[in-house]
Amino acid sequence: MDKLHPEEGYWREKIEQLQLIRFKNTLERAKKSPFYAKKLKHIAAEDIKSLQDIQNIPFTTKDDLREHYPYGFLTVSRDKLVRLHASSGTTGAPTAVLYTENDLNTWADLMARCLYMVGVRRQDVFQNMTGYGLFTGGLGLHYGAERLGCLTIPAGAGNSKRQIKLLQDFEVTVVHIIPSYALHLATVFEQLGLEPKSFNLRIFLIGAEPHTEETRRRIEQIYGVKAFNSYGLSEMNGPGVAFECPYQNGMHVWEDAYLAEILDPHTLTPVADGKVGELVFTTLAREAMPLIRYRTKDLTRFLTGKCACGRAHKRIDRITGRTDDMIILKGVNIYPMQVEKILMSMQEVGQNYLIELYKEGHLDQMRVKVEIKEEFFEEDMRKLKALQTKIAKRLREEILITPRVELVEHNSLPKTEGKAVRVIDLR
Ligand code: AMP
Ligand code: ZN
Repeated sequence: MDKLHPEEGYWREKIEQLQLIRFKNTLERAKKSPFYAKKLKHIAAEDIKSLQDIQNIPFTTKDDLREHYPYGFLTVSRDKLVRLHASSGTTGAPTAVLYTENDLNTWADLMARCLYMVGVRRQDVFQNMTGYGLFTGGLGLHYGAERLGCLTIPAGAGNSKRQIKLLQDFEVTVVHIIPSYALHLATVFEQLGLEPKSFNLRIFLIGAEPHTEETRRRIEQIYGVKAFNSYGLSEMNGPGVAFECPYQNGMHVWEDAYLAEILDPHTLTPVADGKVGELVFTTLAREAMPLIRYRTKDLTRFLTGKCACGRAHKRIDRITGRTDDMIILKGVNIYPMQVEKILMSMQEVGQNYLIELYKEGHLDQMRVKVEIKEEFFEEDMRKLKALQTKIAKRLREEILITPRVELVEHNSLPKTEGKAVRVIDLR
């Protein structure tokens, strides 16, 4: 780790002192729930002398949440609850997350902090283009933006033409949007003959799903905005766990509310800063449903060095994948984001793609369907063939196997209003 500036060292120490106090409180509180009363029976807050001692505490997993659904993690009486959310269920049965009024307040403050950090102010008009309902991206950002004092438009997901009309009529300056939907919306602007850059847009908050730096740059170029990466998960309230600052070099974790560890997913011991591992979180300010050492399955690393913005909060790199979305093909490990990185850096490639895994005889194969921009699709066969070969070659350099590449017409692949489905397994 780089040597810390004395002032930064001071603030890190302060953060860690606060974390230790809050961790102990969390531990005691958690033991009021049926799940932790049993699980942590032999562990007392007095046993925790330093943040290192956390290594001796057992993990909590998504399966634990499922098995103790719906109220097994609750530490308050049910009449104190005011809200329920659920994880999006892209990876299995949903789990419920419960909030007291204090929890909603803490969450709104954290969200407002994120927005303020990237330059959102009360004069801004904020349009929230993610799904409301059980998904946390809707109400989570909504309450944060209202707390900051923005005119807040709960547009919800989908209905692209109406979205664009709202953006135009209310001179929206800030948008929260899932990156794959931001790319899709660009094609609707095109159909309508409208230029996004002529709108009043200034800031995009993009997150809820993995995406690459190339995708971010694309979104920034299309809309003429700055786009900031927003990370969270419903088990930790939702968005507002880690967020990029104006320097766009990793996401600061709000360590007063969440204790982050990055562990080797096999040995479950900490990896060195700068090395990729699985993110594990402990809530430090959660009332209804504290979670201790929750295994997210998200892969990232702590960034070393200090951030130019001066914040002492640790930064994590963008999420490169999940321990459970790795594709193993012909003995090679591949993450969908490696494919996205290549595709989104090629100007001929349109705004969507899909990876399909299938069997040919006994062999596993990968097919990548790639939307091509309209102007390139009108090229003659020979040129299309050459483009197909070029994409396959570029992919091979990144993922070490040659997938079958299929060029498809722009706007022809299925799209979702929520998190994009990038891989279909037909095996
Ligand atoms: P959910 O609880 O259903 O909202 O899903 C949370 C999951 O979405 C996280 O564990 C990540 O896998 C993913 N996710 C959320 N935000 C991001 C982000 N900014 N980058 C990559 N993945 C994200
Ligand atoms: Zn920063």
